[in-house]
Amino acid sequence: VLRWFDEKCAGSRRVAEQAKAVIPGGVQHNLAFNHPFPLAITQAEGAYLTDIDGNRYIDFLQAGGPTLLGSNHPVLREKVNQLLDGCGPVTGLLHEYEVKLAELVCRHMPGVEMLRVLGSGTEAVMGAVRLARTYTRKKWIIKIGGAYHGWSDQLVYGMRLPNTGRMEAIGIPRGATAHTQECLPNDLEALRRRLRINRLRGGTAAVLLEPLGPESGTRPVHRDYNAQVRALCDEFGALLIFDEVVTGFRVGMGGAQAYFGVTPDITVLGKCLTGGYPMAGAIGGRKDIMMSLVGGIGTMSRRAFVGGTLSANPLSCAAGYYALQEAERTGAAVRAGRAGDRLRRGLDEIIRRRGLPYVSYNMGSIVHLQTSGVLLLDTSSLWKLLKVKDEARRRKHMMEEMGAAYTAHGLVTLAGSRIYTSLADTDDVIDDALNRFDDV
Ligand code: PMP
Repeated sequence: VLRWFDEKCAGSRRVAEQAKAVIPGGVQHNLAFNHPFPLAITQAEGAYLTDIDGNRYIDFLQAGGPTLLGSNHPVLREKVNQLLDGCGPVTGLLHEYEVKLAELVCRHMPGVEMLRVLGSGTEAVMGAVRLARTYTRKKWIIKIGGAYHGWSDQLVYGMRLPNTGRMEAIGIPRGATAHTQECLPNDLEALRRRLRINRLRGGTAAVLLEPLGPESGTRPVHRDYNAQVRALCDEFGALLIFDEVVTGFRVGMGGAQAYFGVTPDITVLGKCLTGGYPMAGAIGGRKDIMMSLVGGIGTMSRRAFVGGTLSANPLSCAAGYYALQEAERTGAAVRAGRAGDRLRRGLDEIIRRRGLPYVSYNMGSIVHLQTSGVLLLDTSSLWKLLKVKDEARRRKHMMEEMGAAYTAHGLVTLAGSRIYTSLADTDDVIDDALNRFDDV
């Protein structure tokens, strides 16, 4: 595999070497996803990426999730160009596209009556937490172990490096995470206990979760888990926040909340919201809650402040509006989901035929392929054991070794273990990909 990189990726290697002088580690994104060095991409279209050396790849990274329609979609490109010919990317004043985007999201997402667009998923989660605390006048936030909600101080809490027990992100004073708590996925009893204890200590503002399970389904939750958490939130007067940064519009136009039939009080959106264009983040929710972003009538009192110079700029909103309209028109989530089903069935067949100790599973266009370790469900003690002993090796194997091997066979994946399919993934693309997976 490394020889392939040597022979075929001289251009990427050169750019990566240059990058090291001016970019820490030479990578703007996660180091581990770029083994042995990142590919320098020059072209992206639909299901394919082309690198600076002219190598072509089937793109299952899909930029980390946002390009449900496929990369660099021509409709978005045209609409964005029209907008740039008009007011340009940003003015700081109102643009009609802000309203159009909000109307479209409110029409599809059961839990969204109003929308506030922000700069990223990380920002939107921060805003959602602040909104929940302002509205409920309570301080505790409970997240689910293993979840990723962006990199803000209060929420990277608990992401411990498996082999050492050290925090993955340091430089965070204890106080910043003092009111963030964590429960393991599927452990409803632990969640109930937390809520009960918190009730004696001022109360829980919100339970924050990814509806497919932490790290968007890497640790799957039982089918009725979301509904049970909803019931617990209602019992204890906590708000339920769904982080739908990954699932929003990808699982369906109504997100995971429509799929599971569980309506959260606050929804966090990102990624697909702007179809791959910059500044993808938003908070949506019930009107009475969302109005806390404004504060008391005629006053600034009890206002959950959020900001952002470029938030909700016309370019992002136009791209988002047309991306979602196009997704609606084409049934993109369903069609990308069928591609995901076809891919997962094929992966299952390869795994069975070759007798590999691997697991693949999918939720529509979100496909997981675990080539190491065990599929982790609700046995929390088992999970702790695995975290300590095997998780670091497991991650290295999937992210670096398998990730690089896929790349050398013309497949770009997310961390060697997750695959996003898109509207551009025809049966031919998937069948070609399956042959490549089989070779790997
Ligand atoms: N929440 C979830 C579930 C995510 O997957 C991510 C990003 N991968 C975020 C929040 C953070 O979003 P962003 O990268 O746009 O800040």
